[in-house]
Amino acid sequence: MLIAGGSLAGLMAGIGLARQGHRITLLERADRHRPSGAALSVSEAALRTILGPEHARAAVRMAAPRDGEAASAVPSTWAGLYEGLCRAAESEPRMTMRHRARVAEVGQDRGGVWARTDDGHRHRADVLIGADGHRSLVRRTVAPERPDASFAGYVLWLGVAAERDLDYAGRWPGGLDIRHTGNHVLLGYPLAGPDGSTAPGHRRLGWAWYDGTRNALFRRLGAVRGQIAHHSLRSTDLDKGVRDGLAREAAKRWPRPWRDAIGNSIDRIDFVGTPIAEYVPDRLVNGRMVLVGDAAHVPTPMTGRGFGTSLDDAEALARHLRDTDGSQAPHALAAYEAERLAPAQNLVLSGQGFSRSFARPA
Ligand SMILES: Cc1cc2nc3c(=O)[nH]c(=O)nc-3n(C[C@H](O)[C@H](O)[C@H](O)COP(=O)(O)OP(=O)(O)OC[C@H]3O[C@@H](n4cnc5c(N)ncnc54)[C@H](O)[C@@H]3O)c2cc1C
Repeated sequence: MLIAGGSLAGLMAGIGLARQGHRITLLERADRHRPSGAALSVSEAALRTILGPEHARAAVRMAAPRDGEAASAVPSTWAGLYEGLCRAAESEPRMTMRHRARVAEVGQDRGGVWARTDDGHRHRADVLIGADGHRSLVRRTVAPERPDASFAGYVLWLGVAAERDLDYAGRWPGGLDIRHTGNHVLLGYPLAGPDGSTAPGHRRLGWAWYDGTRNALFRRLGAVRGQIAHHSLRSTDLDKGVRDGLAREAAKRWPRPWRDAIGNSIDRIDFVGTPIAEYVPDRLVNGRMVLVGDAAHVPTPMTGRGFGTSLDDAEALARHLRDTDGSQAPHALAAYEAERLAPAQNLVLSGQGFSRSFARPA
């Protein structure tokens, strides 16, 4: 089987299927190494259903090192979970991962599916799994009548700062803190420090700032075009005037220590801005092609359930494809779609109340 996209959804689907005896080739356009300051909540019990007990424990440890009383208040890091899943995938003998292999074209015929990568290789298999994220190429073939996620009308700034780098003498936050003023929402969350420490003063502070007032900037820089959210902006894409404006607004709008953390990220020019997209699917399968994760459903991150739903997709896909050979695959994939379509739709719809109240046209 082929998987396009080797981030969390693709890795989980690949590991789940490889553990059942399927041969998997995963094609990922990026490098293996991925720094990220994002945070997720991860349940070891849920991961165990597809990774098995050893890989699940190891992945959860990498994502959320525990060393103190405050540990339960500290969410898992995206980067730690990604690393844990990569290691689990690398230890599966039936799974091959190819990085820097961008899938440029996909198709299917009576005998199977194929994917052509940028380096000219043509890969063939019984099934192609699209785990290629919110701008999925595989979705163009699965749902050609509506291939694109739409811009939701607001953006999200994300960064992380080390507590020890902040000039702050007050009480450190104990857990997730949510603030809302005007067209802005801030989620602040402590993360384990680089050494795994969860002791206040030695951790990192992650921040996610939903901003309904800078759509025009994202359009000017080409990150949003028409109704489509094309790509994120790195802080190095922003000129000093824009960065200084954000820092001034953070200082005015958010309490300490969050404004210190945001100011620190801006001073280091180390944060990203993401235009938020949404996609309610009408279908997840076309013949031997199937979608999982953000390729299948794009909710606002405000739902906090994108990862958990991707995990459920991977578990259901592995279950439906258990003991199937190539000839049975389309039937098994149709059963996957019948099970997963409603949860995928409900996930996205559940976030649209927030998006509609928050989004601003520009
Ligand atoms: C800013 C933000 C915050 C979030 N916060 C949360 C949260 O708090 N809680 C939560 O549960 N979920 C959250 N999510 C959602 C969650 O991260 C995802 O649902 C989950 O990680 C599954 O993502 P994915 O693997 O499907 O897609 P992605 O992470 O987008 O991965 C897609 C992969 O496919 C690769 N790719 C794309 N095109 C090609 C191609 N043509 N060829 C080869 N490879 C390709 C990409 O390089 C990438 O590695 C958030 C998402 C975002 C964007």
